[in-house]
Amino acid sequence: METVKLGKTGIETNKNAFGALPIQRISDDEAVYLLKKAYENGITFFDTARWYTDSEHKVGLAFEGMREKVFIATKTGAQNAEGFWQDLETSLENLKTDYIDIYQFHNPAFCPKPGDESGLYEAALQAKAEGKIRHIGITNHRLAVAHEAIDSGLYETLQFPFCYLASEKDIELVEKCREADMGLIAMKALSGGLINNSAAAYAFLAQYDNVLPIWGVQRESELDEFLSYIDNPPAMTEELAEVIRNDREELLGDFCRGCGYCMPCPAGIEINNCARMSLLLRRSPSAAQLSPEGQEKMMKIENCIHCNQCKSKCPYGLDTPALLQKNLEDYKRVLAGEIQV
Ligand code: SF4
Ligand code: SF4
Repeated sequence: METVKLGKTGIETNKNAFGALPIQRISDDEAVYLLKKAYENGITFFDTARWYTDSEHKVGLAFEGMREKVFIATKTGAQNAEGFWQDLETSLENLKTDYIDIYQFHNPAFCPKPGDESGLYEAALQAKAEGKIRHIGITNHRLAVAHEAIDSGLYETLQFPFCYLASEKDIELVEKCREADMGLIAMKALSGGLINNSAAAYAFLAQYDNVLPIWGVQRESELDEFLSYIDNPPAMTEELAEVIRNDREELLGDFCRGCGYCMPCPAGIEINNCARMSLLLRRSPSAAQLSPEGQEKMMKIENCIHCNQCKSKCPYGLDTPALLQKNLEDYKRVLAGEIQV
């Protein structure tokens, strides 16, 4: 069984961690079943967030009475100390626990530090002193904030998107975390659904012994796939390397990662799916995307008021309105049967 040590936290866990964002979409019973099954088969690290609606509640239901057997990481998107304490108390209540293993600042636009106006870092230190949180972490999609967090020496873990589409700059970040003895938790290890070969995704990440991937799980079949990697971890073969090379060729560049940080949109456009529709149509089952509901969502792009709010918020620097238009044109051609997917 491959394990990962998350830097100076000392947390050592199976190389597969459970990302609890998708369990928002299933019932309490279904979520508890998946979470327990994951634990019973060797997964001990569970990552959720205050922003994931009822995900914390479901994690709390699953692990009540056996709290010390698992590691729970959650996140706060609070902008000030007051919000921090409100979020923390809510998370503790939802998770039915009196401590959180890793409490992470959720994708802040800046790196919280002692003495800044937000008071966030001081609040985290106090929560740690009170035993309510054990380690302080940060999640981010921005390279600059991630570097600042590592350089500051204030954080024990960094959660960052990392998958086989990673750039040299992303790989540098992983090495920098190792040097700083910080744990790196990899989000979007399947790039928000665009990577459809999980064995290749696993084999790539297995090359980085300080990286803990969190796999977003909603279906039992997905869980079973990752559980099978506990006993039989996929190794990098020439065949998988070829999959990665091809995907990198197809996907590298200005593509939408589906993170949703550009939302909400005043025109009600579901940007995180619509701006990558061309890829979704070609890389995942297309029937749902082409259904009447799917069409309704895509046609909303025509209501874009070009306010550029999305563009200014995208951590990848994408020209989001232009990307939406491009995806809409392609979508219409697919609908008209001019292009086969
Ligand atoms: S530019 Fe268009 S898509 Fe972007 S936020 Fe404004 S209305 Fe929404
Ligand atoms: S356009 Fe940018 S911010 Fe919006 S979902 Fe895509 S990658 Fe994320």
